Amino acid sequence: MQENQSYLSLPASFYKVATLNPVSNPSFLVINEPLADELGIDVNKLKSERALQILAGNEMPESAAQIAQSYAGHQFGHFTMLGDGRALLIGEQETKQGLKDFQLKGSGRTPYSRGGDGRAAVGPMLREYIISEALHALHIPTTRSLAIVKTGEPVYRECVLDGAILTRVASSHLRVGTFQFARHFCEQEDLRALADYAIQRHYPTLANKENRYAEFFSQVVHRQAKLIASWQQIGFVHGVMNTDNMTISGEAIDFGPCAFMDTFDPSTVFSSIDRVGRYAYENQPKIGGWNLARLAETLLPLVHEDEEQALEIIQAKLDEYPKAFQQYWLEGMRKKLGLQVVMGEDAALIDQLLTIMHQQQADYTNTFRGLSTDQELEIFETDDFKAWQQNWHSRLQKENTSLEAAKASMQKINPAIIARNYYVEEALKFANQGDLTYVETLVDALRSPFTVKTEHQHLQIPPKEDGPFITYCGT
Ligand code: AMP
Ligand code: MG
Repeated sequence: MQENQSYLSLPASFYKVATLNPVSNPSFLVINEPLADELGIDVNKLKSERALQILAGNEMPESAAQIAQSYAGHQFGHFTMLGDGRALLIGEQETKQGLKDFQLKGSGRTPYSRGGDGRAAVGPMLREYIISEALHALHIPTTRSLAIVKTGEPVYRECVLDGAILTRVASSHLRVGTFQFARHFCEQEDLRALADYAIQRHYPTLANKENRYAEFFSQVVHRQAKLIASWQQIGFVHGVMNTDNMTISGEAIDFGPCAFMDTFDPSTVFSSIDRVGRYAYENQPKIGGWNLARLAETLLPLVHEDEEQALEIIQAKLDEYPKAFQQYWLEGMRKKLGLQVVMGEDAALIDQLLTIMHQQQADYTNTFRGLSTDQELEIFETDDFKAWQQNWHSRLQKENTSLEAAKASMQKINPAIIARNYYVEEALKFANQGDLTYVETLVDALRSPFTVKTEHQHLQIPPKEDGPFITYCGT
């Protein structure tokens, strides 16, 4: 790890240097070798006893400061002070993929822990690893999991579970909630320091621009619009889109009660605590906009000294969000249908297919994949679908794309394998019994989602009992 953590250059209110909470008997559960390779980290060093002790939070590289970051956030619409209650930023490193944060998640209590134990359990940390690998393989920007260490200590939730610490790698851990913290609890100069730091780190070309804060906001708007459009396109439900779980970098973060949809239903929600469906599939785009409005509010004093003018400037940037989202959504959905040229009728064509899929209770992933393969699906036998298919074929003809060419390109866009909850839960169940082979097989399959090896074919099949699958927040 680098000795100079850039985060320490921020005003002291943005973090607290924390003490370590050593664990008694750490062992590696997961080492993400492909990620280590991508980052240029020596896998042998990563497997060493020294690395194990660091990633267990037992010792730190010399002169590294382990810090808990301050942030606030709207949780299910309610504003509150949060901060890293169970995570420590242990360093930053310039990697082959740029500057990355390395954070231990589940490393014990910090000054922000409130009533919590600061710990995490094996199951949810493996879930985060599985989901983030799946998203990455689908070309969706995401924080990653470099390793998971079993602590050898129990954690107490609804039942007694094995403790684990996940090493999270992120472009940064700056969140909408970090800005909310700055606006509500710090001086304006601290807020400015944070914004300048975020610009330097994620949008450096804006650094010398006159109205850089408004431009910075606009960039975040676009990255989030793109991210959320990509979730919608693969049927991913994040589950806890609180403002503290929305990054400034545009990476997906914090995978708790998240899941991929099997049967297409826009009202799909997986979290047991989300009783009104605030974070349901169909609500994700507008919640993205709501969260960005919260970010906009924090930036007002930086954008212009006159409040009304500031509001006008930032509102114009916020108004870009629905348009940007729609554009990213259409762009991606066109590709899912093998369309290369933009035509006015495309939105309707996509909507019609989704309506039929909803009516037919079709599997989201398999339907799109099936359009480009010879897969036999019930939905393909219906009259509604056949009528739609005619329209689709004519639409392809209009741009002179052959069905064959369309299908070839669609197979590179529409995954055959996603992290279906049924198989994720099955893998976690075996992992909790000490057998990691299911997790390994699943992750192996998820890493090449557009091709299916024989031994992974079963992962394409939706679970037979497609009842409401609920993930619980026992994280
Ligand atoms: P999350 O649900 O992971 O986004 O976390 C929301 C907030 O609760 C953050 O401030 C976390 O640090 C905190 N938190 C979650 N789990 C724990 C825990 N076991 N101990 C202390 N703080 C926690
Ligand atoms: Mg969080």
